[in-house]
Amino acid sequence: MFKRIDRLQIDLPEPNKPDPEAAGVIQELLGGKFGEMSTLNNYLFQSFNFRSKKKLRPFYDIIANITAEELGHVELVANTINLNLDGSVGNGSTNPDDTPLAPVLGFDNKFNFIAGGQNALPVDSTGRPWSGDNVFSSGNLVNDLLHNFYLECGARTHKMRVYQMTDNETARELTGYLLVRGSTHAIAYAKALEEITGVNMMKMLPVPDLDNSKFKHAQKYEAKGIHRKIYRFSDNDYNLLDRIWKGPAPIGPEGQLEVVDELPEGGKIPDLDHVPEEYAPGFDEEQFRELSKRLQYEAGM
Ligand code: MN
Ligand code: MN
Repeated sequence: MFKRIDRLQIDLPEPNKPDPEAAGVIQELLGGKFGEMSTLNNYLFQSFNFRSKKKLRPFYDIIANITAEELGHVELVANTINLNLDGSVGNGSTNPDDTPLAPVLGFDNKFNFIAGGQNALPVDSTGRPWSGDNVFSSGNLVNDLLHNFYLECGARTHKMRVYQMTDNETARELTGYLLVRGSTHAIAYAKALEEITGVNMMKMLPVPDLDNSKFKHAQKYEAKGIHRKIYRFSDNDYNLLDRIWKGPAPIGPEGQLEVVDELPEGGKIPDLDHVPEEYAPGFDEEQFRELSKRLQYEAGM
């Protein structure tokens, strides 16, 4: 089962101006074949389907624990998209005849404004829905780990490309952080494969062959040692992560790999204002006030 914490894994800065084009390409990191929906659901189903858990506990722990981190990545990417979309339409008018949504005609990612009310959706950068076809859960542990290694390398490639498409602070903060975390996952699966097969996977890393230190927004996280940590996303379980996650960091600044019990320091969940021309969430000030009175909570107005 899962317990939820109403925090993001990092603090996302607000963009200084709306960037709907950036939001459109970041959709690939959410609902694309190599996006966070895919890493999440691959590890989720592999953890459900894992056999001989008692005999292979450290490998089960790695896959199950990283699943929880990936769900937080889905959350982080969706919030980045929303922050970038915010304020990109509207002309101050709520009169439909003033065409307040006209700017959408010039965007590639119209789905964010038609199917969504100016918000993230589980689709790729072209609007194609995320699919269960993206899940590989073969039941064979080596094959699944090999797939996960490949998936993390592919995901890293896409993040590196999106990083180079936009320089807005929110997008860069996200991609810089995810580059570092994706690298730890690639290393974790590589180490798991090494333990089982004896093959030296580290010789292949990083894929693509370009250090995270070449990305300014990744440097900061490496300097803090985030590339050496696996967070244990559970109060009492997944206690054998350190049987695989140990030894010197194979890439990035030097230091020992460590399993940490504390969750990432994290940041607040953005609370974006209503968008009347999208009817999102669909109440005016008077109705907000009425509801908060009726349900007896402080609505902060
Ligand atoms: Mn991820
Ligand atoms: Mn990952």
